[in-house]
Amino acid sequence: MRQILGIHNAPQAHWVGDGFPVRTLLSHHEHGQQVSPFIMLDHAGPYHFEPTTQRRGVGTHPHKGFETVTIVYEGEVEHRDSTGTGGVIGPGDVQWMTAASGILHQEYHSPAFAREGGDFEMVQLWVNLPAKDKSASPGYQTLMNAQIPQRVLPDGAGTLRVIAGESGTAQGPAKTFTPINIWDVRLHGQKPVTLDVPEGHTLTILVLAGSVKLNGQESVGQSRTVLLARQGGGVMLEAEGEAKLLVLSGEPIDEPVVAHGPFVMNTHEEIRQAMLDFQRGAFGSM
Ligand code: MN
Repeated sequence: MRQILGIHNAPQAHWVGDGFPVRTLLSHHEHGQQVSPFIMLDHAGPYHFEPTTQRRGVGTHPHKGFETVTIVYEGEVEHRDSTGTGGVIGPGDVQWMTAASGILHQEYHSPAFAREGGDFEMVQLWVNLPAKDKSASPGYQTLMNAQIPQRVLPDGAGTLRVIAGESGTAQGPAKTFTPINIWDVRLHGQKPVTLDVPEGHTLTILVLAGSVKLNGQESVGQSRTVLLARQGGGVMLEAEGEAKLLVLSGEPIDEPVVAHGPFVMNTHEEIRQAMLDFQRGAFGSM
């Protein structure tokens, strides 16, 4: 079983724009290369929004040097970007945006969700790109719920949706630059299951709801983040009731990381250049 390196509590919630009350469960600034190739993960909600005729969310802003992965659990998110793509995603759907050489985008609640109000929950994960791919063209993948294979775990332990990478014979639909696994896992109580993770991958488990016992020893509650060793086989999970987890693993990118606001580069000089490029309009227009 993989050794547990640390169990971290989420900091206080903060608002991203006026649409996303988030807790940052994973951060390069705190966890460094232990979470490479992942940079950041914000868990928004669950939060109840009253109906409104206003737009709720974040207006036009840039990104460069990495990818954003938005997973919706409840509510609807609308995205538009400077490549001209966009769309609305709902529960179970995923937006995968490659910022790479630079992009502008907007992230709002969908007009229909804003009008009706309701419960809202999503996750946004930032995935780093290696230096050689930071200059790739920006892009956008919509991964609808129906395209994402769901694996039924042994002994009625629960289900695992493969958003990226693979688990068992299930292959996720996301195209990625480096090898990663993103698994949306739901567990039922008192049914232990062992998940196999590739040797050498960093491994992070986020408990979004419920509580889980890891490797038969550590009990981990809601909004906590577990970092595990890069080697040592699989991890054993046993929920103490219904639980919702996100399991992230990836081949670490062994390069310096300078993450500053919406830009993730290798050096401070590249961050400074990204700011100048954004200011002179090099990321296109909306
Ligand atoms: Mn953004």
